Amino acid sequence: MRRKIVAGNWKMNGNQAFIEAFISDFSSLVDPEADGQAELILAPPLLYIERLRGRLAQTRVKVSAQNVSAYEDGAFTGEVSARMLGDLDVPYCIVGHSERRALFAETDQDVVRKVTQLLQEGIIPIVCVGETEAERESGDFIEVVTAQVLAVLDGFSETSALASMVLAYEPVWAIGTGKTATPEMAQQMHKAIRVCLASRSEELAQKCPILYGGSVKALNAKELFDQPDIDGGLVGGASLQAEEFSRICECIG
Ligand code: PEP
Repeated sequence: MRRKIVAGNWKMNGNQAFIEAFISDFSSLVDPEADGQAELILAPPLLYIERLRGRLAQTRVKVSAQNVSAYEDGAFTGEVSARMLGDLDVPYCIVGHSERRALFAETDQDVVRKVTQLLQEGIIPIVCVGETEAERESGDFIEVVTAQVLAVLDGFSETSALASMVLAYEPVWAIGTGKTATPEMAQQMHKAIRVCLASRSEELAQKCPILYGGSVKALNAKELFDQPDIDGGLVGGASLQAEEFSRICECIG
């Protein structure tokens, strides 16, 4: 059985007071100490990762970074390396989010370099892919997204290197817009991504969790998570509201 995951991406939001308020609400709504099958993850701004992790200690909720440098170490002012994340035992890192691709000109090649750095440190990459509204309207959306996936696969001579990888399909037109892909639209793309993975490795295709992201809410999460190729969610805005996020987590079981 594939791993089930719900990850919350706080983006550049929150502060120390927000973390305290979130944790006290979140803990009272979902018992974070309860056993559960799904992996639950929160990705705060990097500056707050230790504080959040401290507040989540003894629970099954793990922390994730939102980004990492493509470089190993050295004169790269402002960057944070995978080695540093590894030094702090950060278990996950989001890579290739559409905001990084669109606002910071991150390319598929950058994504491969970042994934390489993370894997060297034993950190699980959560690799985001997705098409823009124009690409969806052009009708080529499956080709666009599978090309992003293939760029990652082709960056590694052995697909076994990617055994821990998590993918997140996030249609750009659905991120932060309130527009969600219907469960059928999302399933169609998740299936296409799985077929694409299988073109390189059947084992990877069966193993790799593929999360859906794009205006996931408590109201639509269950229907999305019930699709056969959707293994959970990457949640932006709704992960900033403890009650809403806990209800989304409950939808994954
Ligand atoms: C995201 O940014 O990864 C995301 C899915 O955002 P939202 O849930 O707000 O659409």
